[in-house]
Amino acid sequence: MKSPFRGWGMKQDEDFAANLAGEDGEAEETKRSWFRRIKKNITTSTKDKKEAPDGLWTKCPTCKLTCTVSELRENLFVCPKCEHHHRIGSAEYFDILFDEDKYTKLFGNIRSKDYLNFVDLKPYQQRLDETYAKSTIHDSITVAHGKVNKHDIVVACMDFEFIGGSLGSVMGEKIARACDYCIEHRVPFMIINKSGGARMMESAFSLMQLAKTSGKLSQLSDAKIPYFSLCTDPTFGGTTASFAMLGDIIMGEPGALIGFAGPRVIKETIKKDLPPGFQRSEFLLEHGFLDFIVNRRTLKEKLTQLLVLFKN
Ligand SMILES: [Zn+2]
Repeated sequence: MKSPFRGWGMKQDEDFAANLAGEDGEAEETKRSWFRRIKKNITTSTKDKKEAPDGLWTKCPTCKLTCTVSELRENLFVCPKCEHHHRIGSAEYFDILFDEDKYTKLFGNIRSKDYLNFVDLKPYQQRLDETYAKSTIHDSITVAHGKVNKHDIVVACMDFEFIGGSLGSVMGEKIARACDYCIEHRVPFMIINKSGGARMMESAFSLMQLAKTSGKLSQLSDAKIPYFSLCTDPTFGGTTASFAMLGDIIMGEPGALIGFAGPRVIKETIKKDLPPGFQRSEFLLEHGFLDFIVNRRTLKEKLTQLLVLFKN
C-alpha cells in the first residue's frame, strides 16, 4: 500500500542530504549516491559474528519490564514492578529457604528407566540422556535436608526444565523415601510443586506413583509429622491429583496456575466460557482449595511460622 507520508519522507531525506553536503545545488543523482551501499547484503561470515552473551537481560511476561538477571535474582525472581513470580528451579528455592545455603541432597542416585521402550518424537532413553547432558539435576524432583531459621526440614522441589517436572517412578520413589527419612529423623516435610502432570513415557508406572505417594504421606500423618505443600506455576495433572492437595497446609504462589486438566480441555468439555482468573491461586483460595497465598519474598518467614506452630 502506498503510504500517505511517502512524499513527505522523500523530501525530508533530500533536504537532509543537502544539508549534510552543505550545498543545495547538486544534481539528484549525486545527492543520493553518497550513502548508497557499495556491497549488497551482510557479508560477515557466521564464524566471525560476535555472540551477545545469553541471559543477561530478562523480560517480565506480564508487564514487559526489562531488567538484568542479577537484579531479578536479588529480588528472588519476583518482578519488581508487577510482582510476577518467575519460574525458578530447585537450586533457587533451596537458596531462598535454607540457612546460609547449606543443605544435604538426598537420594540423588535414583535414575529413570525406559521400561517400555517408549518412543514419541524420540526414544525416551535418548530424551533422558539429552536432559542429563544439559543439566546438573538427576530428575524432575530434588530432595534436600537443611535448616530454615534453625528449624530442620526436608524439602522436595520439582524442576520444570526436566521433562516438564513430570511425575514418573523416580519422583514417586524419592517422595516415598523422603517420607521414610522424615519419619525416621522426626523432621517436617515440604513439597514444592511445579509439574505438568504424570510422565507419559512411563505410562501406568507414572500413575502408580499417585497411590504410592498418597500411601506414604498417610504414614507420615500417622507418625504426626507435618507435611506442607506449596503449589507454584504450574501444578497440574497427577501432582494435583495426589500429594499436592494432601498437605496439612496447602499454599500457592501468587498467580500460579493450579488444576487437574488445563482450561482448554475443560472449556471444550463443558462447552461454556470459564470465569476470569480460573485456576489461578487467587481463584482457588476463594474456592477453598488453598489455605493461603504466599509471596516468595515472605516464604521463608511464613514457613518458619508454620514450623514453630506445628512444633508446639
Ligand atoms: Zn512484571
